[in-house]
Amino acid sequence: MALQHFDATYSAQLGALWPSIRVALLSERKYGALLNHFSHNLDVEELQAQGCKDFISNGEGKPEEDSSSVSTVTHGGGSRQPSPLRLSPNIRCLVFPRGDITRFRPARPDKFGLLSYYLLDAASILPCLALDVQESHTVLDLCAAPGGKALVLLQTQSVRFLCANDLSVSRTSRLKRVLQSYVPKALLTDDKLRITSFDGTIWGEIERNAFDRVLVDVPCTTDRHSLMEDDNNIFSRSRVGERRSLPQLQAELLLAGILATCPGGDVLYSTCTLSANQNQAVVQQAVQLAEEQHGIQLQVISLCPLAQMFSNTFHFAPNLHLGEMVIPHLAANFGPIYLCKLRRLT
Ligand code: SAM
Repeated sequence: MALQHFDATYSAQLGALWPSIRVALLSERKYGALLNHFSHNLDVEELQAQGCKDFISNGEGKPEEDSSSVSTVTHGGGSRQPSPLRLSPNIRCLVFPRGDITRFRPARPDKFGLLSYYLLDAASILPCLALDVQESHTVLDLCAAPGGKALVLLQTQSVRFLCANDLSVSRTSRLKRVLQSYVPKALLTDDKLRITSFDGTIWGEIERNAFDRVLVDVPCTTDRHSLMEDDNNIFSRSRVGERRSLPQLQAELLLAGILATCPGGDVLYSTCTLSANQNQAVVQQAVQLAEEQHGIQLQVISLCPLAQMFSNTFHFAPNLHLGEMVIPHLAANFGPIYLCKLRRLT
């Protein structure tokens, strides 16, 4: 069902790109190892001896091209600004070189029981880098479980207070276990971390104008998962209604995230689908609703410099009019990950 659906929609949306993305999606995915700064057992040398490199510090040497000519997309005529790149030196993610599909072995605990690295799709680090968390920031992760991106954000060691929320109670428990396996207890105290299980769509009724940075990593058709796993598949017949209403839910979550952001703060929308209906269309709808219903002006922040910086590691969809998208490729089988950054002007 998923493949039929993708063949129909993505061949129209992605044209000539679709056949090679399709092959990559049906092949084994590639992982990255997010190094755990808090572990005394970093395993870096062993991984480097195997040929792994930190894709983040490797990308930083690349010259930035001028991205200021990118066209305007915001609702209400705001301009699209190139983002100055300030990447946290504490986020490090090792990947095997292009074309090398070696698997990572499971991480080992150090003497305090903290694991040395967390395996994840390396492209899912990009939304966290793009969020640009700075010293003393308060951060809301609206759909946080199982916690991969929350862990990346905590690696920056800049977050003053993190609120990690997820509707699912069982997934929130998993998030707690992940954080306990990677972060010292002293950094998980109530004054630094709050874990909640609310429906994120009503966050605007709970807390408005409150966070410097908000991550809205929404539920989506999880394209790669839907092609490979039967368990709880969003394309199963029993979940047709839920699947069709995803863009509505995603727009409500993004709008709630916008309301939770302080004026002047940034909100980052991300998914792991290629679908333009769940990506660009959702951002456009939420930006419009924020302006029409709440009088909030937003500016789209261009992530072109980020895409240029990491173009050796990831394949990015060309000419996306809004946001950036990592597309799966056989030689670099990461993604799909879509990301779009918005700044609250009012
Ligand atoms: N950010 C997570 C990470 O990096 O590990 C992955 C998040 S996953 C893509 C989307 C999450 O949204 C799921 O864990 C799901 O339980 C949660 N979710 C679904 N509907 C929600 C809602 N209305 N409010 C908050 N979370 C929701």
